[in-house]
Amino acid sequence: MSGSILLGLIGEGIGPSRTPALHEAEGLAQGHATVYRRIDTLNPPARDMGIEEILKAAVATGFNGLNVTHPHKQEVMAHLDEIDERAKSIGAVNTVVIRDGKTHGYNTDVTGYARGLSEGLPDADLSRVVQVGAGGAGFAVAVSLIEAGVAELLVADIDPERAQRLADNVNAVTGGNKVRGVPTAGIEEEIRTATGVVNATPVGMKELPGTAFDTSCLTPHQWVSDVIYMPIETQLLADAKAKGCRVLDGSRMAVGQAVASFELFTGLKADVDRMRATFLAQGEA
Ligand code: NAD
Repeated sequence: MSGSILLGLIGEGIGPSRTPALHEAEGLAQGHATVYRRIDTLNPPARDMGIEEILKAAVATGFNGLNVTHPHKQEVMAHLDEIDERAKSIGAVNTVVIRDGKTHGYNTDVTGYARGLSEGLPDADLSRVVQVGAGGAGFAVAVSLIEAGVAELLVADIDPERAQRLADNVNAVTGGNKVRGVPTAGIEEEIRTATGVVNATPVGMKELPGTAFDTSCLTPHQWVSDVIYMPIETQLLADAKAKGCRVLDGSRMAVGQAVASFELFTGLKADVDRMRATFLAQGEA
C-alpha cells in the first residue's frame, strides 16, 4: 500500500458506527492519510441511488474499499465483479475491496467473531453451547462457533422458525449436523448444562436493557459471550461476571471484523491491540 487510503461504509442509520474512526486511526498510525466516509442509505443522495450506482461512484472516485452493513449485505452481491468463495457460501458480503477498477466481495463477520473468541477466550470449552438470537449477527456467530470446534450448538429465538432456519443454514454452510433450533421456553434448563452461552439478540442494548433469559441459571464454569457492544458491559455480562463466569464482550467481534477488513483493504497487517484500544476509547456512545 502506498499513498492515502479512501474507504467508506454503506448502510442504514450508520451515524453512531465506530468503524470509520477505527480504520482512520489505524491507517494514520501506519503512515497513511486515511479517510473513511459514511454512506448512509437513509439520507440523500445515497438514499436515491441504488447500490450499483453507489459502487460505481466509489470506483470512479478512487475508493480503496467499502464496508457494507444492514440491510445491504445480500443485495450488494449481485453488483460485484468477484466474490470470495467463503462469502458466497455464507451468502453475505460486508467488505468490498476495489482493486484496478474492479470490486471484490468478502465476509469478515465470521472471521471477526472467531478471532475475538480465540483471543478473548483462548481455551474455552466448546463441548455444548447455547446461543440465543438467530438474526444476522447470530448467523455469523454460529458459523464461527462451529468452525472453532463447537460440538453441539443449540439456537433459540423468540421466532422459532428463524432459529430452525439458522440451524439448517449453518449446518449447510459448515457441512455438518451440529446445530439445532430449540424453543426459548425452558432455555434456562439447556443453559444450565452448557459449557458456553452466547447472546446474539439486541436485548441488553442501551435502548433495550435487560437480558434475553433468566441469568440465575448461569454457573461459574461457563463462559458467556455477548455480541452487543453498546454498552460494552451488558446486564448479561455483569451478571455472568458476578457468578464467576469468563466473559467475552461484543467489542471483540466488532474489532475482529474491522481488523480483517483493514487488512483486505490495504494489504497491511493491522495492529489488533491498537485497533481495540481505539474502539474502546470511543466510549459508550
Ligand atoms: P437481528 O434483528 O437480525 O436479529 C436479532 C434476533 O434476536 C431476531 O431473530 C429476534 O427474533 C431475536 N430476539 C430478540 N429478542 C429476543 C429474545 N428476548 N429472546 C430470543 N430471541 C430474541 O439483529 P442482528 O443484526 O443480528 O443484531 C443483534 C445484535 O447484535 C444487535 O444488538 C447488534 O448491535 C449486535 N451486533 C454486534 C456486532 C458486533 O460486531 N459485535 C455485529 C452485528 C450486530
